[in-house]
Amino acid sequence: MDKLTIRDADVAGKRVFVRVDFNVPLADGRVTDDSRIRAAIPTILYLVQAGAKVILASHLGRPNGKVSDSLRLRPVGQRLTELLRRNVPVTGDALGLGTEDALKRMRPGEILLLENLRFHAEEEANDPAFAATLASYADIFVNDAFGTAHRAHASTVGIAKILPAYAGLLMERELAMLSKLLEAPERPFAAILGGAKVSDKLKVIDHLLTKVDLLVLGGGMANTFLLAQGKAIGKSLAEPDRVQDAQRILAKAERNKVRVVLPVDVIVAKEVTRGTEYKTLQAEKIPASWHIVDLGKASQDLMVDALSDVKTVFWNGPLGVFEIPSFAHGTNAVARLLADRAEHGATVVIGGGDSVASITQQGLADKMTHISTGGGASLEFLEGRDLPGVSVLLDRPKEPKARASKPAAPKAKTTTVKAAAAKAAATKAPVKATKTAAAKAPAKPAAAKTPVKATKPAAAKAPAKPAAKAAKPIAKPTAKPSATKPAAKAVAAGSRTKTEKRS
Ligand code: ADP
Ligand code: MG
Repeated sequence: MDKLTIRDADVAGKRVFVRVDFNVPLADGRVTDDSRIRAAIPTILYLVQAGAKVILASHLGRPNGKVSDSLRLRPVGQRLTELLRRNVPVTGDALGLGTEDALKRMRPGEILLLENLRFHAEEEANDPAFAATLASYADIFVNDAFGTAHRAHASTVGIAKILPAYAGLLMERELAMLSKLLEAPERPFAAILGGAKVSDKLKVIDHLLTKVDLLVLGGGMANTFLLAQGKAIGKSLAEPDRVQDAQRILAKAERNKVRVVLPVDVIVAKEVTRGTEYKTLQAEKIPASWHIVDLGKASQDLMVDALSDVKTVFWNGPLGVFEIPSFAHGTNAVARLLADRAEHGATVVIGGGDSVASITQQGLADKMTHISTGGGASLEFLEGRDLPGVSVLLDRPKEPKARASKPAAPKAKTTTVKAAAAKAAATKAPVKATKTAAAKAPAKPAAAKTPVKATKPAAAKAPAKPAAKAAKPIAKPTAKPSATKPAAKAVAAGSRTKTEKRS
């Protein structure tokens, strides 16, 4: 990866601000799906065991800049405490004296979780003074919140312009898995896209058409493609104003020699509800009063057959209204096939909240190669866009290619290191000025300066062992931290991807 990660940073004894994505579902004050919390554990344990003071920060839901008691992070702190078997206190607010006090008392190896960042409107506004205050808490910034990396907020971008900024292990893994899809997919490579709205997925389809061999379309969004082929779809969900886009995409697929598989038969229902009347029809002339809600058996067979030899797959979007069991057959059939492909060595990457929910519902999540924690972020990445929360992280200095053959290599390396430090210094300097100027932030000039000073040595030190890092496969982060603590081991074993399990 071309970004520095926590393994490149010297974190011992340092205060490390870790942006995590703990935006998890809650019910009755309890976390109902803790996958995102578990996904951050390798990074947290790594830092704890390296002797860092770990300051965790996240958003939860959409409180829109106001305190909302139902969106407090207390249940998350409790779950994290259970998973880590270590106390994780939660502050009453992300700002304020109480938080500053708690920060001052932290000792190496301790963890503190800041209260929901979005209780402050300044977070989503990427307010410089708010970012400066968050930055004043720490010496080093780590972004492990892949799910929020497509947003330029104070805790994802603002703070990263002030402190030396590294990728966490989850961030690293997400980027490695998704980059592999775009850069070096083993072929045949298929994309399966479904879900509700075609407008959400047009850009990703467009970009993937330059990469894949096979495009499988299903779910509500396939209806717009059926319209584009001149078929009648009754009352089915569709976006008629996107028919031209769908036609353009079908033409582009033909030009790029990408095989497109659309439903040939479908389940249609009187209403999109449980217990309604339903039947199978050819996906040709759906009568006016029916809704397409799932793939028919022939479509399932066609898709399973088309996917039977794929070596790489990206899937986003369920292929029917999977929340209703009678209409989950298409989604389930494809999920089973993909689990089987993954077990036979194919790379299967799944992104999207509902897609992941459908896989988890079937107990197949563990079988897949990678389940992305970021729906929107994974789509934006696969659209070929730079994610602002990633761009801002420190770049890995490029190793001069001639290094092995030319004896002058060490010199070149020094230059690279200097260049990196200079770059870091250059980026940080103006921000420092802003920060000092931002008198609003609880300005502790001395303390505020320290992290900025720390920037240079940290950034300069980091590239010192790039050769060793580069040689290692990127996706093997957890082995070291999990080695010492039984609790850590249990959690690492519960993590969800094959590669992690192997490590
Ligand atoms: P993801 O969260 O995985 O990105 P989306 O949010 O795009 O997926 O789409 C998921 C939604 O699409 C589900 O709520 C599902 O019920 C709906 N959906 C799938 N197929 C259909 C269909 N034929 N008609 C209406 N809704 C559908
Ligand atoms: Mg969704």
